[in-house]
Amino acid sequence: MIPKGLHHEHFKQAATEIDRNGVPAERRSVYYDLVIEGKRYPPKYIVSLAAKFATGEEHLPADFNAVEAKKFFLGKGYEVVDRRAKAEDVVVDEDDESAFPEGRESFKIHRQRERDGKMPRKAKEKRLAETKKLECDICGMDFHSVYGKLGYGFIEAHHTVPVSKLNGAVKTKLDDLALVCSNCHRMLHRGSTLLTIEELKKLVQR
Ligand SMILES: [Zn+2]
Ligand SMILES: [Zn+2]
Repeated sequence: MIPKGLHHEHFKQAATEIDRNGVPAERRSVYYDLVIEGKRYPPKYIVSLAAKFATGEEHLPADFNAVEAKKFFLGKGYEVVDRRAKAEDVVVDEDDESAFPEGRESFKIHRQRERDGKMPRKAKEKRLAETKKLECDICGMDFHSVYGKLGYGFIEAHHTVPVSKLNGAVKTKLDDLALVCSNCHRMLHRGSTLLTIEELKKLVQR
């Protein structure tokens, strides 16, 4: 059961908390996104946080399912997006900036940061020197061992600091770059918030 007495102000507080702290990997939504002031949030997690603001206690997600949460918000006049409804909602193009949680402008900045010549190259060189290979920080995949010569020296750099937290810093720092395979890179960018390396690691099925 979804607790009674939850109102828009509580949902807004919940959204603000998510803007600030992100969504824990296990609380992300799979099927539905709730839209609050143009941004997408996981409906069940919003209910939990809203309940915390309304009653002082976080409501356990086991008490209701995603469909109930969806109906609850639709009943209150909110927009709820079914991520499975349209193929283009689910299968996003890698360069589709609408898929980037922080928005179009930030997506461009993010991309520039991780593609801007020197730093990604330095990160790869450093790793090669240290470990003699370029393994994905998340799943351990190594292009060289899978694709042979063709894959030698290939890996993608991912900038781990959300653009909103860069505070205007212009230079990419070596430590800010993770080295990830193309699959994991796409997964980091998928969904309503940018996942951290640790969060995605936990989700990888071994
Ligand atoms: Zn990977
Ligand atoms: Zn990235």
